[in-house]
Amino acid sequence: MSFNHTLAVRGGRRNDPVQGSVLTPVHQSTTYARPDLDAPVPYSYSRQDNPTVAALEDALGAVEDAPSALAFSSGMSAITTLCLSTLETGDHVVLGDPVYGGTVRLAREVLANLGVDVTFADAAAPEQVAAALTPRTRLVLIESPANPTLRLSDIAGTAEVCRRHGALLAVDNTFLTAVGQRPLDLGAQVSVYSTTKYIEGHNATIGGALVTRDADLRQRCFHRRKTLGTIQAPWDAWLTLRGLTTLPLRLERHSRNALRVAGWLEQQPGIIAVHHPGLASFAQRELAQHQQHLGGGLVAFTLEGGLTAGRQLLGGLSLCILAENLGAAETIITHPASMTHADVPADQRRAAGIDDGLVRLSVGLENPEDIIADLARALICAREVDHA
Ligand code: PLP
Repeated sequence: MSFNHTLAVRGGRRNDPVQGSVLTPVHQSTTYARPDLDAPVPYSYSRQDNPTVAALEDALGAVEDAPSALAFSSGMSAITTLCLSTLETGDHVVLGDPVYGGTVRLAREVLANLGVDVTFADAAAPEQVAAALTPRTRLVLIESPANPTLRLSDIAGTAEVCRRHGALLAVDNTFLTAVGQRPLDLGAQVSVYSTTKYIEGHNATIGGALVTRDADLRQRCFHRRKTLGTIQAPWDAWLTLRGLTTLPLRLERHSRNALRVAGWLEQQPGIIAVHHPGLASFAQRELAQHQQHLGGGLVAFTLEGGLTAGRQLLGGLSLCILAENLGAAETIITHPASMTHADVPADQRRAAGIDDGLVRLSVGLENPEDIIADLARALICAREVDHA
């Protein structure tokens, strides 16, 4: 099913009511004047809300058939605000395994200190989530495809388990966005985003979002955001709104390029495994076809030579950029064990498939032949060292 491009370009948008400008202006103002003490005002202080941020929120809600979303200063501040809106001391949260390293750090360092118990479960098998639930479980937060292995969670199956138990299901949909996957239609209560990635898409901002159709949950998160001060800044919101306009075009091209690169990597010696949901060899191909509309722009692969080969590969690249981000126009390559997931305990990392030889490639919008040529040169260096 192809995404409705009109929604991405026009959904939730309106011309500026004062000047008529087609694009929402950047309302770079801390506060808003009141005509008098009693008059109702739409905006008062930009830690609570802001017209440019609200324009982004309307648009993010529209692409997911939801009311206005909530925008945050980062993906982590969205996740933190969600957790602090739904969990209190004595509660229990189930996290998918694997999930982004920062989410693991939040659970182990912050939630645990607040007296919230955390269990990790592989949501590829909803029965594993069911087994992890306790009478105090309030929230289940999963990622699909997961960072960095691209393991999928069964979203509809996990939603059914959560519904029977009365727990909220939040799905971190950063890797596919509403263009590639619709968690709310699959039964989740919240879609979670690092808009830093594909939604803004140009390596220019840090941001996050929560999208929900549950008015009460939205209100709780809105109130917490005001308390915590985790709202996004107007200029970053404006850039993110601009990114959203071209998201379907970019994600379709990212997915096509990624599949092409993944198919090529599969043919190369010295590589043990290549993961991309669009590959015929992908272990969860059936689930991917059922719940995803696109394969996505990420590829994960494991080098036979482990960390040593990884170092050679990363050092030998010139077009692909060694960096932490993903989902941007530039191809970015990451070594999760020493970068994004370095703080995850080594045994948990390995059990979740994050081996020292695992490389995460965020395939960009360059010509795929150029990306392949760069990887080909660097893989030769990696193999030479491996055999030395
Ligand atoms: N969720 C996922 C899946 C991520 O990959 C990341 C960051 O890499 C985050 C959340 C956190 O987002 P941010 O870096 O915008 O705080």
